[in-house]
Amino acid sequence: MEEDSNSSTSPKGVRVRFAPSPTGYLHTGGARTALFNWLLARSRGGSFILRIEDTDEERSTDESTRAILDGLRWLGLEWDEGPEVGGEFGPYFQSERKELHLKFADQLLKEGHAFVCDCPKDERSDDKAKFDENCRERPLSEQLKLLANNPALPLRLKVEMGRDIVFQDLIRGEVRVSTDEIGDIVIVKSTGGPVYNFSCVVDDATMDITHVLRGDDHLSNTPKQLLIYEKLGWEPPQFAHLPLIVGMDRARLSKRHGATSITAYRELGILPEALVNFLLLIGWAPKDDREEFTRDEMIAAFSLDGIGKSAGAFNTEKLFWFNGKYIRSLSDEEYQRQVFEFVPREWKKAKRDDYIAKVVLLFKDRLTHFAEIEELAWYFFRAPDDYNEEAWKDIMAGNENAALVLKEIPAALKALPEFECERIEKLVRSYAKDKKLKLKDAIQPMRVAITGDRFSPGFFEMAELLGVNEVTKRCSTALAKLNPDD
Ligand code: GLU
Repeated sequence: MEEDSNSSTSPKGVRVRFAPSPTGYLHTGGARTALFNWLLARSRGGSFILRIEDTDEERSTDESTRAILDGLRWLGLEWDEGPEVGGEFGPYFQSERKELHLKFADQLLKEGHAFVCDCPKDERSDDKAKFDENCRERPLSEQLKLLANNPALPLRLKVEMGRDIVFQDLIRGEVRVSTDEIGDIVIVKSTGGPVYNFSCVVDDATMDITHVLRGDDHLSNTPKQLLIYEKLGWEPPQFAHLPLIVGMDRARLSKRHGATSITAYRELGILPEALVNFLLLIGWAPKDDREEFTRDEMIAAFSLDGIGKSAGAFNTEKLFWFNGKYIRSLSDEEYQRQVFEFVPREWKKAKRDDYIAKVVLLFKDRLTHFAEIEELAWYFFRAPDDYNEEAWKDIMAGNENAALVLKEIPAALKALPEFECERIEKLVRSYAKDKKLKLKDAIQPMRVAITGDRFSPGFFEMAELLGVNEVTKRCSTALAKLNPDD
């Protein structure tokens, strides 16, 4: 780990940026990069900038830009500057800065650091190839003439071969690459558009970026960018390349590992605070072994030296577990408000809000994500049409008391003056005692009858909410299946 010394000497303090290409959704890797940049800015009193790198016209979409902006806002990773749109900061768009990029490309051409290349296309396809001396050494006037006759010629950086480009990555330490591996890289394509590496350097430099913190899939771009800084006579920022995120099988994170887009997690009902806390711990570790961080605690604890060199693993189960903890820390009202958004429309049509509010509260201590409410609580809205096979075998078919319980308890429940949790509990307990049954042997057959399976929230609360008619009806349906001849 290298000391990042220059940052504190920069007159504007730390300035970092998140620079996604809008060619897909904001995914977990991108969100983590954004978070670490945001934290670096917040922890050092600096600025966090959002630059949408939309120069690839074919692959960039407005929809993707929207998903990125929505995702960052939802995660609470607000950026600090940008052109004002509707009272808030919009991002910078790289495509709007093309003139600036071309101005500096032109400067390099005029200064002899770049050249027009008219080598045949097949020779031009590989950046690593050494180029025809003809192109490199042509006088500027001839190059300009070539360009005037054929604007569809690329500009290449004039790179001296056999030199090592060395930099201190703040995470990986020294990185060294020979210019033989780099070659005379293209800086402006034959289409007239500047390449990513060139636009990126011009933007980072003109935006006074002090630290480039990005995924290590960009590691091979950094020496090329350093060459561009050098030719332009600019001081480069410091670089820190974040190790990849992998799945629990150590393979690169992909759809196969479950949801990877931030939108998908939002739709599953993961809380942004839980996701941010979880992303923080992929590849970054605090000095102690704390796991739960509020936003302020993260800002106070974060520093680049907590970032490890090896790939961070994304453990979906842990995210769900973590999210469950966050769900339980919400007030009941806040929990109900949020989970309501995930309640299926049919439930809202069928039942009153106060009923739904009570149902969802019964699941507050077991939900791992809000969307799970549908698969957990459905039996509060309709009777089961079938029973889990194993549960039926163990609790109904293989239990000599099941039929008795299903017949006698509902009959007694109907006689209760008030169908209310404590009274139900008292009745069931005394029934079990009289019959010398364990409480569970009295309850489980009814639970299977009501839910179709062996799990549910507390039986008595569930029964009260469902009401005496529904409880007794479901018990007699199950009894009819158990004793078809009665
Ligand atoms: N636009 C690049 C990407 O989305 C990021 C470039 C950078 O951070 O320098 O991969």
